[in-house]
Amino acid sequence: MSTAQPKVLIAGAGPTGLTLALWLTRLGVPVRLFDKDAGPGETSRALAVQARTLEFHRQIGIVDDVIAAGVKIEQLTVHTPAGIAAKLPLADFGRGISPYPFAFALPQDVHERVLIAHLERAGVQVERNTELVAFEDKGNAVVATLRKNGTDETVSAAYLAGCDRRPLPRRPRLPRWRCRTHP
Ligand SMILES: Cc1cc2nc3c(=O)[nH]c(=O)nc-3n(C[C@H](O)[C@H](O)[C@H](O)COP(=O)(O)OP(=O)(O)OC[C@H]3O[C@@H](n4cnc5c(N)ncnc54)[C@H](O)[C@@H]3O)c2cc1C
Repeated sequence: MSTAQPKVLIAGAGPTGLTLALWLTRLGVPVRLFDKDAGPGETSRALAVQARTLEFHRQIGIVDDVIAAGVKIEQLTVHTPAGIAAKLPLADFGRGISPYPFAFALPQDVHERVLIAHLERAGVQVERNTELVAFEDKGNAVVATLRKNGTDETVSAAYLAGCDRRPLPRRPRLPRWRCRTHP
């Protein structure tokens, strides 16, 4: 959590919530970022990172660290019992389209750690073991109930960003931000 009164509450510190928190922090918007889990992911649920993601990472000044943490894929070789069936060069197949024209592999848990490190450098900590259990639209503010170690806290902010990937039907209808990543 940053020390300033948060303008945006961000529920969920997966890649979507972490990235949103970084963007808003870079823009000078105070955020409070929390996650119901005790720690960040320890396994990869994603391997390939698209060039467009790297382009966005460049805009917030983290792309070099992200690229340093992953692997540029030079070539995909298709093997069959009869031998090599195809070789697909991937080192610069997007040349002229993106400054990151290569296929890029980075496990999601490693990616999250890079995002967390940059957030911490910007003074934002992820609050762990903190679950969004309810919220209410008050018109010009949203009032959310956060549960931490069995204790409920009521907080108010201008916006609530749901980056928790919970299905919408369980939530009240509310014009709040819906964060999504592309599979
Ligand atoms: C098997 C598999 C393979 C995949 N492969 C790829 C791939 O190759 N490339 C790719 O780009 N993507 C891939 N994906 C998709 C990728 O993992 C997701 O797009 C990514 O995890 C979405 O990030 P997110 O931050 O939106 O959600 P999540 O990573 O699910 O994060 C949501 C966070 O919200 C927290 N949370 C939930 N409820 C609450 C609450 N009430 N209060 C507080 N916190 C809460 C959770 O603890 C979690 O940390 C794959 C997914 C799977 C399952």
